[in-house]
Amino acid sequence: MRVLLVEDDDRLASALTTALARHGHQVTRSGLAVDALRLAGGADFVLLDLGLPDMDGLDALRRLRRVSAVPLIVVTARTEEREVLRGLRSGADDYLVKPFRTVELMARMEAVVRRGTRPRPPRDDVVCVGDVRIDLECRQVAVAGEPVALTRREFDLLAMLAREPGVVRGREEILDEIWGDPLLSASRSLDVHVSNLRAKTGRPGLVETLRGTGYRLGSTA
Ligand code: CA
Repeated sequence: MRVLLVEDDDRLASALTTALARHGHQVTRSGLAVDALRLAGGADFVLLDLGLPDMDGLDALRRLRRVSAVPLIVVTARTEEREVLRGLRSGADDYLVKPFRTVELMARMEAVVRRGTRPRPPRDDVVCVGDVRIDLECRQVAVAGEPVALTRREFDLLAMLAREPGVVRGREEILDEIWGDPLLSASRSLDVHVSNLRAKTGRPGLVETLRGTGYRLGSTA
């Protein structure tokens, strides 16, 4: 496989490159998140360190997931459970905490590949639900042809649901992605944003609540 290794620690990167090459992989190494975003398109697999000098690794991971479904394992020194959860929610397929044995890494990589890829990013920039038109690229929403003014977060929330119609997104997952904190105090704020979306569009069913689970894009019928 063509493996993109995003790791700023030269010694670790060099050891991993050697180990991966020994297993028949072609390795491209990058020490910066910006390069990772640029190079991910040419990779069959990405190994991503979270502690990078130019960008928070979780931010890099989120951005990467907007454009690519490449299999990815987060490789990091962070051990807090919260970081693990956030990494996995942000789109990692698996997680390894340093130090680890290379045989463990190889096994995890194989397992991720065997399991298959995660859902693809959306093919369309425009999602329509009944007479509601959500333009993800231009960040515009129209109901029955009339534009609806949404705040940035209201739009982000609707877009998050619209990107994967039918998929239920948990409250923590939404709070993490939109508010940047899964635990959070903004919990009440999420309810308010959902109410606003329903009221402003005049389509109460557009955001469907699944009690105790989360939200998904609903219908306008
Ligand atoms: Ca690092």
